[in-house]
Amino acid sequence: MNRILIVEDEDRISSFVAKGLKAEGFTPTVVSDGVTGLDYALTGEFDLMVLDIGLPGMDGFTILERVTAERPALPVIVLTARDSVTDTIAALEGGAADYMSKPFRFGELLARVRLRLRSPGEAPPDDELVVGPVRLDLRRRRAFVGEREVDLSARELALAEVLLRNRGLVLSREQLLSQVWGYDFDPGSNVVDVYVGYLRRKLGAELVTTVRGLGYRVD
Ligand code: CA
Repeated sequence: MNRILIVEDEDRISSFVAKGLKAEGFTPTVVSDGVTGLDYALTGEFDLMVLDIGLPGMDGFTILERVTAERPALPVIVLTARDSVTDTIAALEGGAADYMSKPFRFGELLARVRLRLRSPGEAPPDDELVVGPVRLDLRRRRAFVGEREVDLSARELALAEVLLRNRGLVLSREQLLSQVWGYDFDPGSNVVDVYVGYLRRKLGAELVTTVRGLGYRVD
């Protein structure tokens, strides 16, 4: 359950998604035009499709219609520009597909991919993460240190979530950038260090360890 078809004509986005999925153990295949995309989708060789709407050859709505009719079991995650979200939702009505508006963070896409590929018997992911006195309530998007609630921005919470979920592992700046900020971010930026600083100030200096030359880790 790890073969993922990516139909997307923007190289920057398809390579960002493919690279991220590969790093998570999936086998991605990238196709950049609509006609080939539909052919591939109908082969039955894939477990999930990530589908762009604006494509050369055949648009994503047409592909989705054919796939829904001929391969109804194939889960589809549609990528759509923010200004056409309303059209996209209308097109998805009744189908098995999910959608994400661009730009998106890789972490969000990954969560949806995992959700779509999960077999019915598997447990849902934790909606609470606890490390020492720090507790993240992911369902309500709130953070606590002991009994005290701490006000985190959406980005701070996303960074804390990735670090806590991967507790014990060193995460590089690049990994954190792609999971929390997405492909729209300059890889040379020091934004990760800045935000780790915010988290230390708000959640406790000892929460995040700097691993020199490699990145950050939560123990
Ligand atoms: Ca496109």
